[in-house]
Amino acid sequence: MPASIPHTTLPSGAKIPTFGLGTWRMGEDARRRKDELAALRHGLDSGITLIDTAEMYGDAESIVGEAIRGRRDDLFIVSKVLPENATRKGTITACERSLKKLKTDRIDLYLLHWRGSVPLEETIEAFAHLVETGKICDWGVSNFDISDMGEIWKTPQGNGVAANQVLYNLSRRGIEFDLMPWCRKHKVPVMAYSPIEQGRLLGSPALRDVAERHGATPAQVALAWLMRHDDVVVIPKAGTVAHVDENLASLDVILTQDDFALLDRAFPPPRKAQPLEML
Ligand code: NDP
Repeated sequence: MPASIPHTTLPSGAKIPTFGLGTWRMGEDARRRKDELAALRHGLDSGITLIDTAEMYGDAESIVGEAIRGRRDDLFIVSKVLPENATRKGTITACERSLKKLKTDRIDLYLLHWRGSVPLEETIEAFAHLVETGKICDWGVSNFDISDMGEIWKTPQGNGVAANQVLYNLSRRGIEFDLMPWCRKHKVPVMAYSPIEQGRLLGSPALRDVAERHGATPAQVALAWLMRHDDVVVIPKAGTVAHVDENLASLDVILTQDDFALLDRAFPPPRKAQPLEML
């Protein structure tokens, strides 16, 4: 039976699933392409409807384009423009290039991948044009710290920012101190990237202990820990069908107060503001 994945709401009113599929490093090794395509298709067959990609991820957008063929309307596609392309004209050209690779006529959420030297006003103007022409439905940012969010909020049309995709997992909790409360206050959903720290989290004894209590795996506990927030979108990347299944089953892992306390001891929450980390 396809999984039932909760949604959260973007400021525009559009619904975004809170669990999706990441695609960084897909398409980099031709020998893995078949497995990656199979993993994405399996994820979609299993009820996952959100895919996160970016123009930066080499050939990943083309693999996504292949995976979503014939089922586009049921899906929520996120892609990103590189900061060096984020001029008024460059953003539009980059978006059109991504649409071609994705073989679709629209991107549901289009993000500025990180902040570069192009003035925010210019990128936002381009995003607004892309919304008007139906090429994107919503726009947002990625790797924006609290000061960047404050700045964008004051920019004309900047309060249209629909999401902030940032590094967030058990070992990267800095955003809980200030950025996450800011996003909540302004109703801008956070998308948590590298939710299992690209695999590096999985050897943690605390995660293993909690996993054992639940008959689950460390990856499932790390994902379930993030999904305790109903307004955070979690996008693990899985390049195999087995990893897709394992990650999806994290939706069934319900952590207890004891589990949270144990994880807090191993991965303490922030006590003061710290600069946003990036991968
Ligand atoms: P993740 O934390 O999602 O980890 C992915 C790695 O973990 C892969 O090597 C994968 O291997 C492995 N893995 C996945 N599931 C399991 C499992 N159940 N057990 C063991 N290993 C597993 O890291 P990412 O950096 O890929 O982050 C997720 C997504 O977030 C990216 O793919 C991308 O879409 C987005 N992102 C955005 C950034 C931004 O700047 N906006 C920066 C970084 C990521 P395998 O491939 O073999 O399954």
